[in-house]
Amino acid sequence: MLDAIVVGGSFAGLSAAMQLARARRRILLIDAGLPRNRFADASHGFLGQDGKAPAQILREAACQVLAYPTVEIAKGEVLDAKAIPDGFTVAMAQGREVQARRLVLATGVVDILPDLPGLMERWGASVLHCPYCHGYEHRDRPLGVLASHPMSAHQAAMIPDWGPTTLFTQGRFEPDDEQRALLDARGVTIECSEVSALLGRAPQLEAVQLADGRTLPLSALFVAPIQRMASPLAETLGCGFDDGPMGPIIRTDAWKATTVPGVFAAGDAARPMQNATLASADGVLAGVGAHQSLIRDALLAA
Ligand SMILES: Cc1cc2nc3c(=O)[nH]c(=O)nc-3n(C[C@H](O)[C@H](O)[C@H](O)COP(=O)(O)OP(=O)(O)OC[C@H]3O[C@@H](n4cnc5c(N)ncnc54)[C@H](O)[C@@H]3O)c2cc1C
Repeated sequence: MLDAIVVGGSFAGLSAAMQLARARRRILLIDAGLPRNRFADASHGFLGQDGKAPAQILREAACQVLAYPTVEIAKGEVLDAKAIPDGFTVAMAQGREVQARRLVLATGVVDILPDLPGLMERWGASVLHCPYCHGYEHRDRPLGVLASHPMSAHQAAMIPDWGPTTLFTQGRFEPDDEQRALLDARGVTIECSEVSALLGRAPQLEAVQLADGRTLPLSALFVAPIQRMASPLAETLGCGFDDGPMGPIIRTDAWKATTVPGVFAAGDAARPMQNATLASADGVLAGVGAHQSLIRDALLAA
């Protein structure tokens, strides 16, 4: 039986694997190869890697993890996982079954974009979720926030640091007096006519068409997508969940242990504030947490 199986080989999973590998544990990392930021050409704000393609960062990280002799990395999807005496058994799509004492779930989330044609083709280029990740590249140009959630007012109040900002309420969101005062103080224009189309050659955005016939020039449109788990594994295993601001997140303690003994969770799937750095830090905690729990079990069994 392996010491640990890490499911998900992006920022969180590779970071967890690195700690376990350096602790000389026998591990298998299984990755379906769909990291959340695969839609963006460049990743920003990740120390030492600013502006690099996400796929390149992950390729280099995987090579570094694979340099440790106790690690195997397998491409593919984990379809099922269940508890067995002293550990877990995991079933891969290719039919392979593997057993380990610990499981680390680093499976990420899926963004569900608002229902407006043209958003998906521009996702990660000119339709964005996070100004810290991609706002700088659109600085000093007209920016918009498509209201889809109460968090949209908070998002709109941040954006003027990058460029002149319009909040499109889309008939879904009416700022209250306090939010209106904040948006006024930040110089945000509130636009009540609905955005009916995105204009310009995707993935670029040049303007938005409004329902009342006007066209407003826009370089980027920020959205706050709701999220779902990218994988049902945490639910299948019986892990507890909390409500995050944009969707459910796997409940974890300070060492990223879930409510199911032996199962750890890290990254976007297990934290409310999300980016590549935080997912990596989470993975480090989960890797160390899983390693320490293996030591504790061995001591108890001795
Ligand atoms: C468009 C966009 C751009 C972004 N840009 C930035 C940026 O510039 N800077 C920044 O810091 N953050 C950025 N982010 C956020 C960043 O992408 C995430 O915070 C980060 O990828 C989370 O890492 P993770 O390891 O938790 O999950 P993910 O990166 O989503 O990786 C999860 C991995 O698990 C795999 N997986 C899922 N289920 C299974 C299964 N059952 N079996 C096997 N494998 C499975 C997936 O295929 C995937 O490879 C961006 C996000 C988006 C949407």
